[in-house]
Amino acid sequence: MGLSKTIWTNPSEFLRIERPVDPVMFFAPAVLQDTARRFLDGFPGLVTYAVKSNPDEMVIQNLVAAGIEGFDVASPAEIEMIARLAPTAAMHYNNPVRARHEIEYAVAMGVKSYSVDSRSELAKLVDLVPAEGTEISVRFKLPVSGAAYNFGAKFGATVELAAELLRAVDAAGFIPSLTFHPGTQCTDPMAWDAYIRAAAEICRLAGVKARRLNTGGGFPAHRVEGELPALEAIFALIARVADEAFEGTPPALVCEPGRGMVAEAFTLAAQVKAVRDDAHVFLNDGTYGALDELPITGMITRIAVVEPEGRRRTAEAAPRIVFGPTCDSVDRLPGEVMLPGDIAEGDYVVLSGMGAYSTATNTRFNGFGALTIATVMRLDA
Ligand SMILES: *Cc1c(COP(=O)(O)O)cnc(C)c1O
Repeated sequence: MGLSKTIWTNPSEFLRIERPVDPVMFFAPAVLQDTARRFLDGFPGLVTYAVKSNPDEMVIQNLVAAGIEGFDVASPAEIEMIARLAPTAAMHYNNPVRARHEIEYAVAMGVKSYSVDSRSELAKLVDLVPAEGTEISVRFKLPVSGAAYNFGAKFGATVELAAELLRAVDAAGFIPSLTFHPGTQCTDPMAWDAYIRAAAEICRLAGVKARRLNTGGGFPAHRVEGELPALEAIFALIARVADEAFEGTPPALVCEPGRGMVAEAFTLAAQVKAVRDDAHVFLNDGTYGALDELPITGMITRIAVVEPEGRRRTAEAAPRIVFGPTCDSVDRLPGEVMLPGDIAEGDYVVLSGMGAYSTATNTRFNGFGALTIATVMRLDA
């Protein structure tokens, strides 16, 4: 990041003037701060941000400016960055499997909240972390899914094991709490319903009252044209079900959105390198770049195509196979993508809602991936 930084009006102004030949991510701090305020105003508890979804320092700084006071961190590098950029914020080390040296680093950095989903990793924490004033949240999972993909495949104790762990956390003198993640891009609010009721059941089984309940990330982003995520409805459901399930005295609630917080603040522009024999479209970005997660989470359909001069193409859309720039045949966007029929070499394909799991997972495979970030006032047009 240079000292004198240009702020552009919107993506098309940048594209028209700069004619970038590498992919560009447009970041609108105002959009990020609006989303942060939507969570802070609407969520019935503490709002933290899952750093992994987009660890750009400008993102962290803008979230702090908007009033975010907690961060979900997963590694020493994330802890180091948050301690530096948000020294008064809470750090929740919610990666339930850690090397001993990582735990020692977290303790030295003052981390006071950890998650756990197994006996072996709890034993490590009990060994290395002073219990006084420190929270351990037991991460549990259910066989339900309303999400784009299931997070329970890697982390989370069963309800029975979670009850055992919650008891052990309490007995070891830590603050006992519970946490879950319903799966990313979770468009079915009933997933939270099931998880919150299971949390109450775990407390009953354990005979331990959880101090806090972290309802995870998973809040959906706007990916499909015309399907707006219903964040406020999910917030209201979480508040109501927590109250019901814990009979009027729910634990303090926490959430840790990644995608739902940051996706809308970034728009990607990838240039059309070629339309091969009038058929397949080749972009300068693909699944080894900022479009890395599309094969797993599905296509974003909020697409505009603009000519190099900045005019938006409006011809009737037709399905195309779209490839990324590398020589790997899996470097292809899922399915067929609806694009204006007159799309041409040199055009920019502009995708909205691209802030999560994009810059963070971009690679330099095959020499591509020279992704730049440009700051804009607005993301429209
Ligand atoms: C990845 C992750 C999140 C964020 O998930 P989103 O689906 O991006 O909201 C939150 N909590 C934990 C523990 C995670 O691993």
